[in-house]
Amino acid sequence: MCLQQYTFEDMRQMNRTTLGNMVPLELFRTIRLIGMNQGLPLGGKGTTVTIGRKIGESLPVHSVEELLQIFEELKIGIPRIVHSDERRINIAVDDCFCKGLPSLEDERMVCDLEGAIIEGALCRILGRKVSVKEIKCNVTGHEHCEYEVKL
Ligand SMILES: [Zn+2]
Repeated sequence: MCLQQYTFEDMRQMNRTTLGNMVPLELFRTIRLIGMNQGLPLGGKGTTVTIGRKIGESLPVHSVEELLQIFEELKIGIPRIVHSDERRINIAVDDCFCKGLPSLEDERMVCDLEGAIIEGALCRILGRKVSVKEIKCNVTGHEHCEYEVKL
């Protein structure tokens, strides 16, 4: 059977007998930070957001709880809500994929794609526009990565 396009469910179909369903974290990091952030013009800024939103929209989640669950299942990090009111939600992420990376000279935070994934998923779940910004990052010396969701 041939598909016109892939869905997230298709991504879960695997038949790799020797190497299994995992790739090492350094490959994910390399795609993210060397390929996307350093390989695309302007640090991949707009492109990363576009890619992240698209990924977020494609996730089979219907609530914030399910989103946080899949975020951990995919081993991006372990998210928890640290603040929530009618205007904003703050999501801290422990054990983020960036943990242990050296800092950058320009003190840039690096988890922009992951924030855009949250944004895309939340837009779909809530049925309206939200904006997500990374406000803390392990790489810039914070105790965890954190996203601020403006509702
Ligand atoms: Zn980070």
